[in-house]
Amino acid sequence: MMIVVDPGHGGSDSGAVGYGYFEKDINLSVSLKLRDVFKANNVDIILTRDKDVTLGLSERCDIANKNKADYFISIHCNSFKDSSAKGTETYSYPRSISGAKLAKGVQQTIVANLKTIDRGIKTANFYVLHHTNMPAILVELGFITNKEDLDLILNKQNLFAISISNGILNNIGLKQINKSDSIEKLHQMGFISDYYDPESYVKWKDIADALLKIIGG
Ligand SMILES: [Zn+2]
Repeated sequence: MMIVVDPGHGGSDSGAVGYGYFEKDINLSVSLKLRDVFKANNVDIILTRDKDVTLGLSERCDIANKNKADYFISIHCNSFKDSSAKGTETYSYPRSISGAKLAKGVQQTIVANLKTIDRGIKTANFYVLHHTNMPAILVELGFITNKEDLDLILNKQNLFAISISNGILNNIGLKQINKSDSIEKLHQMGFISDYYDPESYVKWKDIADALLKIIGG
């Protein structure tokens, strides 16, 4: 199976801007993490860009079509002039049943794990959804113009990546290989409050909180 992940915008096209952050950078960063997660699950993945370069919409579609990808996932952040607008939404092409199913799976997993506002699945005649030959979705992770969403899309990128891959793999009947079963277990047992990135450093506060829970303090 082959998945093409498309970090929206890039190069001279910054995408949306919020609080000094560029959408293109967040899209790329999350997509690189998504590549790691898919690779860990032995899924073939191609990124339409793996650095900060300008890339046209047709080029993005060509990469997916030429490589005969099974799925196309475009990663974006939303923006709005009113900074109170927030939440996650996922798009598929109108009347694409497989696209809508994929969108639903990814949308639900992100909202469940990140606790973002569920703006639902939507359809739109976006270029990359229209001109790709395979089920395609465009994920708006959150609003770069909203402080709470921005905090999540800056600091919980691994969880976004895990959620997106989980949503896709569940949708096609594959179980995600979790490198961090012990973390998952501690989370389910209530000893830790979050899905931690197994490769990241732990803060002393997190260790102290977990220890207190274990000893009942
Ligand atoms: Zn965008």
